[in-house]
Amino acid sequence: MKRRAAKFTGSTSLPARTADPKSAATVPPCPCGHPGGYACCCEPLHAGAAAATAEALMRSRYSAYVLGSEDYLLATWHPSTRPDASLLAAQHPAPTWLGLDVRAHRIIDDDHAIVEFVARYRLGGGPARRLHETSRFVRETQRWYYVDGD
Ligand SMILES: [Zn+2]
Repeated sequence: MKRRAAKFTGSTSLPARTADPKSAATVPPCPCGHPGGYACCCEPLHAGAAAATAEALMRSRYSAYVLGSEDYLLATWHPSTRPDASLLAAQHPAPTWLGLDVRAHRIIDDDHAIVEFVARYRLGGGPARRLHETSRFVRETQRWYYVDGD
């Protein structure tokens, strides 16, 4: 009976916790630092969605470093500059990422952009260090790729 479908009132369309402002305020920030949380920020990109901007791709790549997602780092690296697959394993000691600060997002044209950022990290028990990079990105077949950086 087709009328049975009318009994679904939409009560399952939203997770209950999103209706509670107290729990919404306690969502931990995305690894990239975005206060909206991982599920609303970098997770869809890590799951295969195309980044809308070079900055979004850059943030998702930082999160991938935090999470150790080497496959994602390689998949979003332009083939012309992509390193060997031993990318993260070659880092001794592995850095502990402390935070990301995107300083500038310059759009050169529809398919080229530059993102300047500072990433803070620590090696072992050492002091916090800063990686200040100006990265180049290119878009091919509607997907952004990291090319290289200074
Ligand atoms: Zn994020």
